[in-house]
Amino acid sequence: MLLSWGRYPKYPQTSHPVRWPEEVGCAVEVIGSGGIRRGLAFGMGRSYGDSCMAESDHVVATSAMDRVLAADWETGVIRAQAGLTLAALIEIALPRGWFLPVSPGTKFVTLGGAVANDVHGKNHHVMGTFGCHVERLTLYRSGEGVLECSPETRTDLFNATVGGLGLTGIVLTVDLRLRRVSSANMVQRSIRFDNLNEFFELSAVHDAQHEYAVAWIDCLAAGRRTGRGHYIVADHASDGVLEAIRPAARRMPFDPPISLVNGLSLRAFNALYYHRQRSKNVLSTVGYDAFFYPLDKLSEWNRMYGRAGFQQYQCVVPDANARETIEAVLADIARSGTGSFLAVLKRCGDVPSPGLLSFPLPGVSLALDFPQRDAVNTKLFAKLDALVHEAGGRLYPAKDAHMSATDFQRAYPRWSQVEALRDPFLMSRFWRRVTQ
Ligand SMILES: Cc1cc2nc3c(=O)[nH]c(=O)nc-3n(C[C@H](O)[C@H](O)[C@H](O)COP(=O)(O)OP(=O)(O)OC[C@H]3O[C@@H](n4cnc5c(N)ncnc54)[C@H](O)[C@@H]3O)c2cc1C
Repeated sequence: MLLSWGRYPKYPQTSHPVRWPEEVGCAVEVIGSGGIRRGLAFGMGRSYGDSCMAESDHVVATSAMDRVLAADWETGVIRAQAGLTLAALIEIALPRGWFLPVSPGTKFVTLGGAVANDVHGKNHHVMGTFGCHVERLTLYRSGEGVLECSPETRTDLFNATVGGLGLTGIVLTVDLRLRRVSSANMVQRSIRFDNLNEFFELSAVHDAQHEYAVAWIDCLAAGRRTGRGHYIVADHASDGVLEAIRPAARRMPFDPPISLVNGLSLRAFNALYYHRQRSKNVLSTVGYDAFFYPLDKLSEWNRMYGRAGFQQYQCVVPDANARETIEAVLADIARSGTGSFLAVLKRCGDVPSPGLLSFPLPGVSLALDFPQRDAVNTKLFAKLDALVHEAGGRLYPAKDAHMSATDFQRAYPRWSQVEALRDPFLMSRFWRRVTQ
């Protein structure tokens, strides 16, 4: 049964797998059955809400369409099928001295999914989004067949497809420019901070000096401790082995009937994490996997939230209002007593993305998970949404299961340009919710 990562909302998706680009048209025809049903492409289902769910609940599953078709190891440009995962790409590229230019917090996403959500990573302030490094795409569009687009050719289609939530066509291949590295290791500095003001001071000094920057914060700390946590900056090490490691992941062993994430476990875990580092400032060398993908160590950790699932709330707030708004958001969350094991604070930079619906804007992004409980989330999210929108911020569609049509259309005014280029076969539950 295919669900999104948050396992909420619960609309099991029927999978129509494809292994080769030539099979995509047939899958579209089967799902479309006479032009009635509208489907969607599905990668690894690492989106949290309903943006990876088809209106018809029938999806073209792309993860077996995963071959590297060409690679130039002099320039670092690879051409691969859209179902290739970032995990598989790292295994091929890293031993040759190349790495992803931009990576989200899990390596288990496909190239097609990374393009469709124009994903960002801990280096957004330096490298922008994933779409900034895409040189060319091929797409299948119903009624038109296979088309090519790039920043130079069919620019309108390219810009609508990068961050276009899978609605402008099914991506068949992606040409991606990788970045050079000379080691599989990262040199990281972790600094414990006591409150949000300290985070902003650290970020103002250190972000510009390092490629990667992120903070993990205790979302339940209140009062003078609001926003306490660990600020981590890192860069690729200049020497060391070039080896892709595949650490054995543990698996969440069972499906608890109710969420294991509750007020008690949250307080205990977050306090323990905050105090795990004795010295305030620790410099260390760690493998890329430990730095980029700590959550991938426990596969299927999403089951920890029980059968009801969970929602992630990710917002970005412009710099001018970031400090006050993030503080107010955290205060509301702490009062609610719910939230996640750690929340992630990241600064987004001003590198422009080609994507019309790209999420990041220059400011600060906050992301955290909430066990799914209708009453709690509805009340709390309404408060948080009001704060975010008043500050000129917006929510991330890849993580969303609750945004209203008004909020979406106000926050993403170029949505109608994507709608104009939408393939009539493609429709997600998210897009129907926020535009139709
Ligand atoms: C632990 C974790 C950490 C994460 N961290 C980050 C982060 O730091 N930054 C960030 O930006 N995101 C992050 N994400 C979200 C994730 O990177 C995105 O949701 C990503 O798009 C998921 O890719 P996927 O292959 O699983 O695609 P899916 O979730 O299956 O689909 C996502 C979208 O892509 C479309 N799509 C998939 N394949 C194709 C294709 N071939 N052609 C056209 N459309 C396609 C789908 O229709 C859908 O609209 C995180 C997710 C998890 C679970």
